[in-house]
Amino acid sequence: MIQTDIIVIGAGPVGLFTVFEAGLLKLRCHLIDSLPQPGGQCSEIYPKKPIYDIPGFPEILAGELVDNLMKQAEPFKPGFTLGEAALTIANNSDGKFVVTTVKGTKHEAPIVIIAGGLGVFEPRKPPIENIIDFEDRGVEYIIKDPTFYNDKNCVIAGGGDSALDWSIFLAENRIAKEVVLVHRSSSFRGHLDSVQKVIDMAEQGKIKLITEAEVTGLSGNGKLSAVHITHQSRGEMVYETDHFIPLFGLKPSLGPIADWGLEIEKNAIKVNTLDYSTNIPGIYAVGDVNTYENKLKLILCGFHEGTLAVQSAFARIYPEKKNVLKYTTVNGIQGF
Ligand SMILES: Cc1cc2nc3c(=O)[nH]c(=O)nc-3n(C[C@H](O)[C@H](O)[C@H](O)COP(=O)(O)OP(=O)(O)OC[C@H]3O[C@@H](n4cnc5c(N)ncnc54)[C@H](O)[C@@H]3O)c2cc1C
Repeated sequence: MIQTDIIVIGAGPVGLFTVFEAGLLKLRCHLIDSLPQPGGQCSEIYPKKPIYDIPGFPEILAGELVDNLMKQAEPFKPGFTLGEAALTIANNSDGKFVVTTVKGTKHEAPIVIIAGGLGVFEPRKPPIENIIDFEDRGVEYIIKDPTFYNDKNCVIAGGGDSALDWSIFLAENRIAKEVVLVHRSSSFRGHLDSVQKVIDMAEQGKIKLITEAEVTGLSGNGKLSAVHITHQSRGEMVYETDHFIPLFGLKPSLGPIADWGLEIEKNAIKVNTLDYSTNIPGIYAVGDVNTYENKLKLILCGFHEGTLAVQSAFARIYPEKKNVLKYTTVNGIQGF
C-alpha cells in the first residue's frame, strides 16, 4: 500500500504543478497516470509544439514545459505509478481513500485530487476494417516526434487543426518526402490561416491535397505500403505510402472515474470554484477534467485551480493549524 498525503490522479501539467504547490505546504503527493510518461496532453499529443500563453514564457515547447514542471516538483519527491489507470476508489476504516489501479496497485491518502484531463486517451479511428493490423506498423494516430517521418511518404487524414498544422509542419520543414492530406469535405474546421496556408502550399506543389475523399482501405505485407482512397466522384485510387496518420481528435472519455459517484456534467466533474472541491468531501478536481461556469481549458487556469485546491486540502488534513501564505521569495523552497 503506497501511503501519502495527496493522491493526484493524472500527471499532466496541472497534476505536476499541483505537486509543487502541495509541497510548499509540506504535503506529499503520489501521482497515478495511465500513460507511461508524465506530461498528459503536452507529452502525448504535442510535445514539439510551441505554447505561447504560459505566463513568463513568451514561447515554450510543450515537452520543455513538462520537463520544467518535473524539475520544479522534484524537491518535493513525488511518487509515480505510471502506465496504470486508476480504476476504483474506496474508503477505509479511518476515513482515508484507497485508490486501486488496473494492475492492482493500492494507494492510500486522506485527499484525492483528480487532474485527469481528457480522461483516458482514446483516439477517434476511421472505420477501416483492417486498421488494427497496421497500428504501429505505419499507422499512427498521434504525431509525437516529427523526425520519425524523416524522408517518408505520409498520408494524413482529417480536416481540423491537427491535420492542417502537421501537414504544414512536415512539408514546410522538409521533414517528410511527400505529404498527402486527405479530407472528406472541401471545407475545413481548422483556423482560417492554416486552411489558407495548406491551400497555398498545395498550389505550390508542397502538399498534395485530396478533398471530398476518404481513406477506405489499407494494404501491405506486415507493414503499411499503400492506402486506398475513395473519391466522391473519381472513385478509388491507390497511393503508395510509408505512413497513414488519421488525425480525427481524441474521444473524451472520463473512463473509470465516471463511476466514482462524482457529479458529472458533459463528461467533466462539477466543482465548487471556492476550492475546486467535488461533491465528495476530500476529493478535488482540477484542470481540463473539471467544469464550472466560465471554465477555460487552459494550462494556466489549471495551475490556479491546483493552487487553491491544495490550500483547502491542507485545511482538511490539519483543521487545527492556521496556514499563512508565504512567498517563495521569502522562504525559498524547502524540499523533503
Ligand atoms: C494540440 C493542442 C494544443 C494545445 N495548446 C494549448 C496552448 O497553447 N495553451 C494552453 O494553455 N493549453 C493548450 N492546450 C490544452 C492543454 O494541453 C490542456 O489544457 C492541458 O493539457 C490540461 O492539463 P491537465 O493536466 O488538466 O490534463 P491532461 O494534460 O489531459 O493530463 C491528464 C492526465 O490524466 C491521465 N488520466 C486520466 N484518467 C486517468 C485515470 N483514470 N487513471 C490514471 N491516469 C488518468 C491521462 O493519461 C493524462 O496523462 C492544447 C491542447 C492540444 C490538444
